[in-house]
Amino acid sequence: MAKRKILTDSDPALRQVCKPVEKITPRIETLLDDMIETMRAANGVGLAGPQVGVLRRVVVVETEPGNPIELINPVIVDYAGEQEGAEGCLSLPGRSGIVKRPMKVKVRALNRKGEEFTVEGTELLARAFCHELDHLDGTLYTDRAEYMLDEDNFEVETPRTRLRKHARRK
Ligand code: ZN
Repeated sequence: MAKRKILTDSDPALRQVCKPVEKITPRIETLLDDMIETMRAANGVGLAGPQVGVLRRVVVVETEPGNPIELINPVIVDYAGEQEGAEGCLSLPGRSGIVKRPMKVKVRALNRKGEEFTVEGTELLARAFCHELDHLDGTLYTDRAEYMLDEDNFEVETPRTRLRKHARRK
């Protein structure tokens, strides 16, 4: 296993739509191993292929230490409810924002043996699934944030919140 470099900020790889994995090769297995090591070293709860420069639909999530979930070609097949909470991203260091996500999601994916499985997540795990799957389509949480927070957790004004405040005033 080897730690990989996490791409950040305006790196163009973070804005690409990733291709499905056609065949699970030893290279993909090494990628999964490396992504888990990289995520853990960065104290993250999830990591997606494009964050390490691999434009393939591969995600790892670990909200329960020691129990990483590997997702190849994942798709959200069902969701329910809503939660609103703070979110950050290893590719956007030092920032956080408030994002609405479903409370519960069901994901279908392949494991590294190529077998299809489904996994359900609620709360943090549901949020992590949504956040990481978004990465595969070049979407960052900042695109969805209700508002961003500064380092003291105060609301930061963005074009979107400016619009909202403007609308409120009317
Ligand atoms: Zn992220």
